[in-house]
Amino acid sequence: MPNTVEMKIRREKAVANGVGTRGIYVERAQDSELWDVDGKRFIDFAAGIAVNNAGHRHPKLMAAVAKQCEAFTHTCFHVAPYESYIRLAERLNSLTPGDFEKKTMLVTTGAEAVENAIKMARAYTGRSGVIAFSGGFHGRTLLGMALCGKVAPYKRSFGAMPPEIHHVAFPNEYHGISPEMSLAQLDLLFKSSIDPERVAAIVIEPVQGEGGFNIADFDFLRKLRQVADDHGILLVADEVQAGMARTGKMFAFEHAGVAADLVTMAKGLAGGFPLSAVTGRAEVVDAPPVGGIGGTYAGNPLAVAAANAMLDIIADEGLCQKAAKIGEKIKGRLVAISKRQGMEAIGDVRGLGAMIAFEMVKSRETGEPDAALTAAIVAQSEQRGLIILPCGTRSNVVRLLPPLNTSDVVVDEALDVLEASIEAAITQSQI
Ligand code: PMP
Repeated sequence: MPNTVEMKIRREKAVANGVGTRGIYVERAQDSELWDVDGKRFIDFAAGIAVNNAGHRHPKLMAAVAKQCEAFTHTCFHVAPYESYIRLAERLNSLTPGDFEKKTMLVTTGAEAVENAIKMARAYTGRSGVIAFSGGFHGRTLLGMALCGKVAPYKRSFGAMPPEIHHVAFPNEYHGISPEMSLAQLDLLFKSSIDPERVAAIVIEPVQGEGGFNIADFDFLRKLRQVADDHGILLVADEVQAGMARTGKMFAFEHAGVAADLVTMAKGLAGGFPLSAVTGRAEVVDAPPVGGIGGTYAGNPLAVAAANAMLDIIADEGLCQKAAKIGEKIKGRLVAISKRQGMEAIGDVRGLGAMIAFEMVKSRETGEPDAALTAAIVAQSEQRGLIILPCGTRSNVVRLLPPLNTSDVVVDEALDVLEASIEAAITQSQI
């Protein structure tokens, strides 16, 4: 097996530069840990970006996929459909919030799920406008990137965006945007840019992922539901990162006690196998004509087997409760660290369930972001054997996405490493 240095040289020569990569070349992974090609062990608090919610290679997941391999690996659902897809659809229809008849389609990536939700909303309403939020992330396809609320690197260099996509400020008290200000912007948009009668959908992440783990105020989500209803607009909850038990509930929208018309899921849905879903009001999901949605690999049997196993694991092993518990533990420790003398660069600690983050600033008074310090913390952690990820529209947020079943021992070890890494990065920045 080539070592990290060799891998880096080959990667740079052979793989597209635009595909951003971190410096760890993995050899194998198990539970909440992975080992790189040099044999170095890491605690994985990225979980494949909120994907391996039950850790790497959960035995029930592995067994389900192995069993499916014995039967068939691909037929294309359009050609020869299979029961496991239908069963997964039935389960997602009953798991997603909302006391109405639902239907599901399966695709492969988060971006594809979002694209299909918009196609359904447009087909159902006969309208084309879509409203999304600043700092939001919805994928890298043409429509996905247009919906993203961040220009660099997602939209820069990629030419004209699809029309009739508008953004309003995501409510973020820490950055000075109240829920009222967000709603006022939406109102202004309806008066100045697009008639609400032309808007098919409002798309929102209940907790922004790439945007910095910004948690939408629950009352704001309820009011957004009302605005959508007032104008016959569909509400799309992008739960690609926040869904599947991550925030302590199956779907983050549940915290607000309202239902979206369409829910997009991916990442944690199949625990590491490529699968995404759109679930929502039956009449909306049914609006596109036959053949208008789907795909060759959409709902791949191996990924569907993994997803059915993941839903069992989430229920049987109480992953929602585990997410809440692990989140409390990590957030508590981070708050304690932030209160220590010398830790003034930690401007904010926040989280919902096991979606936990802290924001690095040059000064608590001004809240000026410190992207360099954030990058240094991530690098220091990596050196010490902990994988964490940066995020945020200003690149100054560290996010923690532990597998939800990570043992207390490993969580404690990770937090010790993190604390030492923050200290080292701060000391380094002061030299
Ligand atoms: N929506 C959200 C909320 C996401 O976090 C992501 C991925 N980070 C996507 C959509 C796109 O998913 P994918 O990368 O699988 O296309």
